[in-house]
Formats: sequence, structure tokens, C-alpha cells
Amino acid sequence: LRGVVAVDGPSGTGKSTVARRLAAGFGAEYLDTGAMYRAVTLAVLRSAVDLADVDAIVEVAERAELVSGTDPERPTVHLGVEDVAEEIRGPEVTAAVSAVSAVPGVRELLVRHQRRIIDAAVARTGGIVVEGRDIGTTVAPDAGLKVFLTASAEARALRRAAQDSAAGRDASVDVTLADVQRRDRLDSSRAVSPLRRAEDAVEVDTTELDVAGVLRELTALVER
Ligand code: C5P
Repeated sequence: LRGVVAVDGPSGTGKSTVARRLAAGFGAEYLDTGAMYRAVTLAVLRSAVDLADVDAIVEVAERAELVSGTDPERPTVHLGVEDVAEEIRGPEVTAAVSAVSAVPGVRELLVRHQRRIIDAAVARTGGIVVEGRDIGTTVAPDAGLKVFLTASAEARALRRAAQDSAAGRDASVDVTLADVQRRDRLDSSRAVSPLRRAEDAVEVDTTELDVAGVLRELTALVER
């Protein structure tokens, strides 16, 4: 795997698991950009600034010492020296992350940060799998391979609920489906969501596939 592989799509498509395993299988690095938006959101929630005060949010984002590890076997995310990997998956962050990631100043800051991480990884290892919503369109428009994962809302809700319950978090499929549908509505409005399929992205519908099946398809695309 040489250069950048962009993996975009909504949550619940299996993006994270598949992107990590793809990177590990090819000895490449891995970046979870959603974790970066989540970590900044955690910093914003802790600072107790008003979620409507965009200037204050950008200031908190600029001050947050966000550090993202790119080892696919052990992806890490820190604020300063604090490991926040667990806390950024909690309900408070999940509820606020759409609002924080809709702030243009936050996106500009994180996209710059992501491009630096990508450049360093390519120079070091030769390749990186980058996962998110806007990788193929904005962060790495020159990526050698762009994949856009989709799945039905029901399939995505089932996967999210299974993930949450495995992590010991409360998880009813009904509530999760309602949340997936709410986020889909937000995500279909370009004003607040970065989620878009790049014109040159290969779309893979994962509704009927398990992780191994999706991984096989992506591996074939990388090797093509
Ligand atoms: O991928 P994950 O569900 O962890 O992403 C959390 C949130 O971060 C998304 O719902 C979206 O609002 C935001 N995000 C984004 N751009 C990205 C990745 C994530 O705006 N590249």
C-alpha cells in the first residue's frame, strides 16, 4: 500500500474496524479522523464554553494538545499526556461532536493537522489508511485510492448497538436507529456535514457483508 487510502462513509458501516485491519495487513499506518473531532469535542465540553460560541470553540481547539498515534495495532488519542480513547466514545461526546465539527475554524485546524500527520506517515512508512467523512474530498483529494462505504440505516444501527454493548455502554437498537437516522438527516445537509462521496471514490455497500467480506473487497482494490 503506497501513499494514501481514503476510507469515507457514515458511522456504522464498519469503517474503523476495516480501515484498521486494512492498514495492519499492509504494514501501513492508520488515522481515525473521527477520533480527532471527538477529542476536540471533549476538550470543548470540559472547558464549559457555550456550544453556540464558535470563536470560543476554535480557541479551545487551538489550545487542545491533540496527539494522534497512527499504529493500526494500537491507535491512540491523547489530550496532552492524557489518554482519552475511552472517554471520547461516551454519550456526551457523541451528542456534541456534530455541532463542534460543523465549526469551520475547527475543521480548518484539524484538516491542517491531519495533512501533517499524513505527510509524516507517508515519508516514514510509505502508506497510510485515513478514515473519516471528508478524506477523499478535502483532506487528501489526491489519494491513490478512495473508498466510500455505505450500509442501510438498520444495518448501521445494529452494528453500533452491538459495538456499544460490547464496550459496556447502554445500547437499545431502537434508540440507536433513531440516533443514526437523526445523524443521517444532519449529514444530508451540506451546511453542517462534511460527508460527501468523492467523484472518483469506489462505493462499497456493506449491508450484506461481514468485516471479512469488506476487508476482502478493499484488499482487492488496493492490490488492483
Ligand atoms: O467516525 P466517528 O463516528 O467517530 O466521527 C464522529 C463525528 O466526527 C462524526 O459524526 C462527524 O460529525 C465528525 N467527523 C467529521 N469529519 C471527519 C470525521 C468525523 O466531521 N473527517
